Amino acid sequence: MSGAGNLVAIYPGSFDPVTLGHEDIVQRTLCVADRVVVAVAHSSTQSKRQLFSVEERVRLLQEVFQDEARVECTSFEGLLVDFARARGARFMIRGLRAVSDFEYEFQMAQMNRQLWPGAETLFLMPDVSYAFLSSSLVREVAVLGGDISRFVSPLVARGIRRKLENHRRAEE
Ligand code: ADP
Repeated sequence: MSGAGNLVAIYPGSFDPVTLGHEDIVQRTLCVADRVVVAVAHSSTQSKRQLFSVEERVRLLQEVFQDEARVECTSFEGLLVDFARARGARFMIRGLRAVSDFEYEFQMAQMNRQLWPGAETLFLMPDVSYAFLSSSLVREVAVLGGDISRFVSPLVARGIRRKLENHRRAEE
């Protein structure tokens, strides 16, 4: 994939919050693409319980990848294929953790192909130590007072702690 010097891959998701599994996928993407745009989706987050706003998630991603000049973190509204096309990116990256991810990812990739036949979805597998990790589990463990330091970057763990303290204070 690399060589031309300008191969851009989009890595879309909710990233609520970014976990070490996501970071693993970004690092793997950097091995095959010149640049990665990590893109927080506005649309796919509405039905889920949110911890961070889209803007807060983008900020956390920017902090996590601040030393990676080839990584850009942003958000997008509307169709992923429209965003990718506007950015000149034909490759979309998704992580595959287990068979359970497959069906949803298969449907999405096929739908995106219908919407833009020129696009390709590439699936990357994280290190096996992250195969069980999801943002929703991290949120749940954090809310219940568990230790999440092995699952997210220290700055993300701090952000979560601060957010939960604010929630608690607001409820008092
Ligand atoms: P979405 O709501 O789009 O699934 P997520 O933020 O949960 O957004 O995930 C974004 C992408 O990263 C998805 O392709 C998901 O499969 C992948 N992903 C999530 N957690 C991990 C992990 N621990 N290891 C590898 N890939 C992951």
